[in-house]
Amino acid sequence: NEGLGSWPARRARKTPHRTALIHGDTTRTYAGLYDRTTRLAHALRERGIRRGDRIAYLGPNHPSYLETLFAAGTLGAVFVPLNTRLAGPEIAYQLADSGAKALVYGPSHAGLVAGLPGSTDVRTYVEVGVEYEEALASASEESIDTPVTPDDTCIIMYTSGTTGRPKGAMLTHGNLTWNAVNVLIDHDLLADERALVSAPLFHTAGLNMLTLPVLLKGGACVLVEAFDPNATFDLIEQHRITFMFGVPTMFDQVARHPRWPGADLSSLRILTCGGSPVPTPLIAAYQERGLTFLQGYGMTEAAPGTLFLDAEHAVSKAGSAGVPHFFSDVRVVRPDLGPVDVGEVGEVVVRGPHVMPGYWGLPEETAASFADGWFRSGDAAQVDEDGYVHIVDRIKDMIISGGENIYPAEIEDQLLAHPDIVECAVIGVADDKWGEVPRAVVVPREGAALDPDEVLASLAGRLAKYKIPKSVVVADELPRTASGKLLKSRVRKRYGHNS
Ligand code: AMP
Ligand code: MG
Repeated sequence: NEGLGSWPARRARKTPHRTALIHGDTTRTYAGLYDRTTRLAHALRERGIRRGDRIAYLGPNHPSYLETLFAAGTLGAVFVPLNTRLAGPEIAYQLADSGAKALVYGPSHAGLVAGLPGSTDVRTYVEVGVEYEEALASASEESIDTPVTPDDTCIIMYTSGTTGRPKGAMLTHGNLTWNAVNVLIDHDLLADERALVSAPLFHTAGLNMLTLPVLLKGGACVLVEAFDPNATFDLIEQHRITFMFGVPTMFDQVARHPRWPGADLSSLRILTCGGSPVPTPLIAAYQERGLTFLQGYGMTEAAPGTLFLDAEHAVSKAGSAGVPHFFSDVRVVRPDLGPVDVGEVGEVVVRGPHVMPGYWGLPEETAASFADGWFRSGDAAQVDEDGYVHIVDRIKDMIISGGENIYPAEIEDQLLAHPDIVECAVIGVADDKWGEVPRAVVVPREGAALDPDEVLASLAGRLAKYKIPKSVVVADELPRTASGKLLKSRVRKRYGHNS
């Protein structure tokens, strides 16, 4: 077995007694992880799961998530993580689309699972807890050696769906391994890393940027079911956390928390932020405490690590997403795939051993998302004179006003510098004169009253006139995906009309 399924066995051979996983009061060594993974693989095989079959998982971060992933890999089966925030019909769609035969789920989702339609291919349901433990206890512990190659599919991960119906990105064992190698190289991970995994494991960032690289190297992962800023301080101190990965909103909540000034954060060595544009005021807040953000840019389809800004350049190139990971090739191109000039905006395209072979069951969408072997990210970016890439925004979110291209992220960055704005989104609304004009939707800090005119006045002189929003809407919250990505299409639907 050359795939992920062999990792627990390989780690158990090298470092059996080291801690692999911590969850609440539960601690699992690598030997323990290997034993449980093997038993689960037997239990699933007894229930009819074979090489190539799909096994879905629905539940918050928990050791059983990783045990199921590795057990699937042990059998050469394909792991399908499901987003815990999805509604019943959305879960049913992904189960049916992936053709999953088994579903392992957490007790918090028992009600949802009971209400799923019988029309999917799922025949085996295992609830984490008593049922799961009994299945393991009665299963064989004999090692299983299934032929698995790096080109076999390991995971089908549904993209967070900021646009349209979710597509299942097929990630191979090779894709995940190369990504983990890229993370190890570029983060300088040590063998005794202690990672705080509060980003959801069903998204690529929490799993592939943090958990899998740490397990490959033999470190420990502290699994947290739901991100909570207060608990984050406790866990950092209790476990002497060295490595955190989060989306900007997570780091933002930590920095705004009353415990922030007094907390002991001395154990933290690596803080990586990514998944969404990283606001410059956030980088500055951590910098003031001597904490440096590394920045990662990627996408589910690239497993996800693509660009990376390392510690050495974190300050001098702050705001940039960096340069490609070691085993990754990235270009910023014009529509004809020719390279852009310095400062010109183009599309990010990516190629490398970490890029997926395609979307599950969608040959046309797959063909449309590659050009000449390069995966088209749909993101707009510029390259500076040193080759550092600056992500500008989603190409689709661009506003065209009087013939000028406006990228909302640039305006959002300026709005977030306002002391009373915690979240914001800029969208285009129809305008008789200019075609489209920007509108800002802002969420005030708790207890603060925002005056739209004052907000606009604060932007004067800092942005070109045509980029300054023509209207400001104050909202209570903004729609986001579980990974913290702004759902711009929903913001547009709700706030994009002229009344
Ligand atoms: P997903 O396919 O859900 O993993 O989301 C990938 C998308 O997230 C990318 O195409 C970008 O639009 C966005 N993204 C990820 N990392 C960054 C980053 N560091 N800066 C800006 N946008 C990012
Ligand atoms: Mg995407």
